[in-house]
Amino acid sequence: MNKQQFIEDDFKYIWHPFTQMKSFENEKNKPVIIKSGKGIYLEDIDGNKYIDAVSSWWVNTLGHSNDRINKAIYEQTKKLEHVLFAGFTHEPAIEFSKKFIQKLNNKLTKVFFSDNGSTAVEVALKMAYQYQVLKGHSEKRIFIALQNSYHGDTLGSVSVGGVDMYHKIYKPLLFEIRQAISPYCYRCPMNCNKETCNCKCLESVENILKKESTQIAGIIIEPLVQAAGGMIMYPAEYITKLRKLCDRYNILLIDDEVAMGFYRTGKFFAYEHAGIVPDIMCAAKGITAGYMPLSVTVTTDEIYNTFYDEDKEGYKTFYHGHSYTAYPLALSVALENLKIMDEMNIEEYLKPKIAKFTKELEKFRNHKNVGDIRQTGMVCAVELVKDKRTKEPFSYKDGIGEKIYLEGLKLGAILRPMWNCIYFITPYIITEEEIKELTNIAFKALNKVLPYD
Ligand SMILES: *Cc1c(COP(=O)(O)O)cnc(C)c1O
Repeated sequence: MNKQQFIEDDFKYIWHPFTQMKSFENEKNKPVIIKSGKGIYLEDIDGNKYIDAVSSWWVNTLGHSNDRINKAIYEQTKKLEHVLFAGFTHEPAIEFSKKFIQKLNNKLTKVFFSDNGSTAVEVALKMAYQYQVLKGHSEKRIFIALQNSYHGDTLGSVSVGGVDMYHKIYKPLLFEIRQAISPYCYRCPMNCNKETCNCKCLESVENILKKESTQIAGIIIEPLVQAAGGMIMYPAEYITKLRKLCDRYNILLIDDEVAMGFYRTGKFFAYEHAGIVPDIMCAAKGITAGYMPLSVTVTTDEIYNTFYDEDKEGYKTFYHGHSYTAYPLALSVALENLKIMDEMNIEEYLKPKIAKFTKELEKFRNHKNVGDIRQTGMVCAVELVKDKRTKEPFSYKDGIGEKIYLEGLKLGAILRPMWNCIYFITPYIITEEEIKELTNIAFKALNKVLPYD
């Protein structure tokens, strides 16, 4: 099949995610047909190579076509591709869980499997609510979530979402939540300065709790980075203080580490920066280095033991599961991924790369449309503004991100925009030289679209 035929058939038969399909009528918006991947590069059918600066939607950590991961998949296919997970179990699931819980220092103790981040969040919400019911608090049925939060696309995770563009239209279908303000330090909703504020924005959470804590089941957060809401970053101190609030008002802390887990922030999980332990944690992206769909919801003995009983009526059972719960192929990869990262001594391995990004981001500083430069570990973002002094944002209609993305493709990098941010969430194996190259490409693309005049 030639390229033209591929494109026509794609258009004829496929509905892509997060995409206004009519935009494909425009020649320059046609999807790129990727044929293969190796390391940090993706290659299209014309032989053009692109740096995968977004880790194929933030999942790929070890690069494409990693030999050891590929081998783990193949070896597992020779033994067992799948088996149901109620009444049955298997070695990859057991070995992974044991190693994973050990790496969490046995602070979180039980692993519940599903196969994508949204579902890991659904599981967390159902688990939290049922826990409250079993504790005799059935009136605790409302969750607190933050403005600008993103927790996935299923209805439960959309209910706790806070990005109007993705979530607003579904409002009539969603359950009730309370929304606290976003810790958006660059555009602080309380007009504070990050250096001196002591996380004053937490008052917004406490005000809800003061009034309604008897009806609140828990609060869900994205730790350190509100990623899909615009790469909004906030200090670990916020989470440390939030943990105290949760304890004081007797609500659960649900930590959605789907994007930040598996060393994205430089530590295994982002909550470690805050020196706390959440009650429930969700993880997905990065769990299989980007090779297989898998997610986990992990929790404490306290929550697990509340469900653990003779249960003659069945109401203490956790009724949730999927055809592919604990999919063995995915688990064999997740286990191999943990082993590889341990052998790489990944925390140390990432330090010079994080420092290199810090250094290379400086070239954006003086550009007239760069409002803010943000970094948390291996997550970097440059927020573009119309006016540096007033912080006036570009409007959606300006399509700045889209234009930079198209320039980036020409220059050999996938710079999928996030609102008005250029961001880098690369595979961990990117070299310091490649970090320089990638940031140079992004800077060139920026100057092409928004030149100095
Ligand atoms: C991506 C993401 C999700 C949803 O994960 P999917 O696997 O895409 O369903 C949930 N929470 C956060 C913080 C995410 O970034």
